[in-house]
Amino acid sequence: MMKLEINNLSKTYPNGVKALQDVSLTIGKGMFGLLGENGAGKSTLMRIVATLQDADSGSVVFDGIDVAKDPQALRKVLGYLPQEFGVYPAITAEELLMHIADLKGIAKTSQRKEQVHALLKKVNLWEDRAKKLGSYSGGMKQRFGIAQALLGEPRLIIVDEPTAGLDPRERNRFYNLLSEIGENTVVILSTHIVEDVSTLCSDMAIMGNGRVLLEGSPAEVERNLKDRLWIKEIAKPELERYSKEFKVIASHFHLGKLQVTVDAEACPGDGFEAKASSLEDAYFQILARNEG
Ligand code: ADP
Repeated sequence: MMKLEINNLSKTYPNGVKALQDVSLTIGKGMFGLLGENGAGKSTLMRIVATLQDADSGSVVFDGIDVAKDPQALRKVLGYLPQEFGVYPAITAEELLMHIADLKGIAKTSQRKEQVHALLKKVNLWEDRAKKLGSYSGGMKQRFGIAQALLGEPRLIIVDEPTAGLDPRERNRFYNLLSEIGENTVVILSTHIVEDVSTLCSDMAIMGNGRVLLEGSPAEVERNLKDRLWIKEIAKPELERYSKEFKVIASHFHLGKLQVTVDAEACPGDGFEAKASSLEDAYFQILARNEG
């Protein structure tokens, strides 16, 4: 069975920041969501798996390949879309894809062309293939990024914060593209957006402060909270008092009114109503516990 095994990975940066602390995860085929706030350690973990950075201790093994011992072998099967995806503004999408295909070791020109053309169509950039990348919109750049990550038919695909900065329609397109990726692939989606995970992923982990806080399917993570959530509409100045008195895991405006979500065994008092839990609630609760 093809899988990615992350074993007891730790990484401390020279400035003392403990970006990863004894992280272990086993990730099988399909779409895996790595959810966490900015600074949780997701990018550090993704860069280590992608062979761009070394860990201080621990190991990463993908389908029998020890990533630290044989980075070249890993790179051959890897598709990576980093958080900051720089493009060369003065060349066209087709030219850059042909070049990357060459770097990925697709030796025959006819084969390179065939794959590049198929991918340009798949990500809906065929009409724009001869335009300079510098003229692309954010959504187009993101789709280009996916195309380059899919070159060479990778078996391990890593996408880091893919939907940050996309408008809802672009995000939707991007979701559709990702969900078309073959079932015979391990895909890791690193994100701080709960919807990315609930829409796409069959398994997930929540990271915080360099650690794995919780792991499971989105449904299992949600069940964590069953029958413990209560909401109430309050006036804005009351928020501070409520935050002191109750375990407030989220507060947001709904139709112009402030609603607080409270975590409690039983109904915490007058005016509170039971709330069906969502993945977002579970995520906020786990973050709140991690901070408290
Ligand atoms: P995420 O991707 O979840 O936002 P990162 O892996 O980027 O998390 O960052 C984890 C922690 O490590 C943060 O506190 C961040 O500031 C720190 N960090 C990341 N890269 C470096 C670096 N090159 N040098 C020092 N600290 C870093």
